[in-house]
Amino acid sequence: MVLNVGLGPAGSATAAVFRKAAAAAVRAVGPARTVRLDLALTENTDVPVADRVRAVAEGARLALYRYDTFRSAQALPPPVEVRVTGGSPDALAEALVTAEGICLARDLVNSPAGALTPTAFAHRIQTVAAEAGLSCVVYGGEDLARLRLAGLAAVSRGSTEPARYVELTHEPAEAPALTVALVGKGVTFDSGGLSLKPSGELHTMKADMGGAAAVLGALVALPRLGLPIRVHAHLPLAENMPDGGAIRVGDVVRHLNGTTTEITHTDNEGRVILADVLLRASRPGQTDLVLDVATLTSAAVHALGTRTGALFSPDDALADLVGRAAERAGESLWRLPLLEHERRHLRSTVADRVNCSHRHGDTVQAALYLSEFLTPGTLWAHLDIAAPAWNDEPPYGVVPHGATGFGVRTLLETLRALAASAPALA
Ligand code: MN
Ligand code: MN
Repeated sequence: MVLNVGLGPAGSATAAVFRKAAAAAVRAVGPARTVRLDLALTENTDVPVADRVRAVAEGARLALYRYDTFRSAQALPPPVEVRVTGGSPDALAEALVTAEGICLARDLVNSPAGALTPTAFAHRIQTVAAEAGLSCVVYGGEDLARLRLAGLAAVSRGSTEPARYVELTHEPAEAPALTVALVGKGVTFDSGGLSLKPSGELHTMKADMGGAAAVLGALVALPRLGLPIRVHAHLPLAENMPDGGAIRVGDVVRHLNGTTTEITHTDNEGRVILADVLLRASRPGQTDLVLDVATLTSAAVHALGTRTGALFSPDDALADLVGRAAERAGESLWRLPLLEHERRHLRSTVADRVNCSHRHGDTVQAALYLSEFLTPGTLWAHLDIAAPAWNDEPPYGVVPHGATGFGVRTLLETLRALAASAPALA
């Protein structure tokens, strides 16, 4: 059987279009078939050959993704096999490495929260870090008090599952032109805590570690992509539950920099665990810039719909660079403003700020809240991926139902672009 897949008007196809077309081709084939994609690429587009090869191979691999860990063997449909031939071997290898990172992120986000506790998540990170050649340190127990990660400790108090904090480092073979810190929110299950979520909102809350999964997915790919960038990953992992030890509404958390947050809503836990970690990631001399990725606010879903992430940065050049990277990655990101006048909603009557104002515009307020926890002068961008980390609808493009792996490609494209522009930034 031969499939013809349309790419739109001649010359208009971008890398994202090639990626989607390959996925559509693979999806159109039934189970137990072998798909051969021969990359006899012609020169009728502006997209460089290597980028097209990467996009097609990624799209094909990603369309094959299934999460079968908890299905019995007899319930499994027979697999589809894809063989990609042609194109440059380097571009093919890069595509497969990237797809592997994305599939890892999807597996983690699809994992039931009972199976992927903070402890289990940290173990999994250690395993994949060792395989990928990343250095990895896991902190837990009294380390959290010693590192003064007060928000992480506070949020995890209501769970019988102890919190973990993981730091990963990718050290490039050649002298790094730039050091980047990636911070990922890793709430393995978000019940809302004492400010309990309505039951209808709980079924996707195992996905509240999608930011940490995306950062990890990008990190494991890095050693094989050969970018001259040192990357530190900072992953706070916790479960937000409402037991007798849980943080109360009205309690105050004292952060790493001595400032305080009044907890006015325990379901706004993400920004609280990220606060100290952003301070730690941006310590003087540690990094040239910080990018955080978090399934942070349901307001982001209201603002932009279910397929688009929100991008914030006070720096136009960095926002532009990340926005273009997302475009090449075929991931939908839209920049939102850090509206200074919204900061008034963070005011507290007892502490330096609240973590929830119960006002409209929570996506902006959450970003403003995070902005208070960066060492002054730090270049920073924030990705709120609460919407696109999970797809409740049927598959579309390279995106399956369930966990999407959103963010991995954008992070890798961002790092590629930073590597290319490092002298300008430094
Ligand atoms: Mn929450
Ligand atoms: Mn959350």
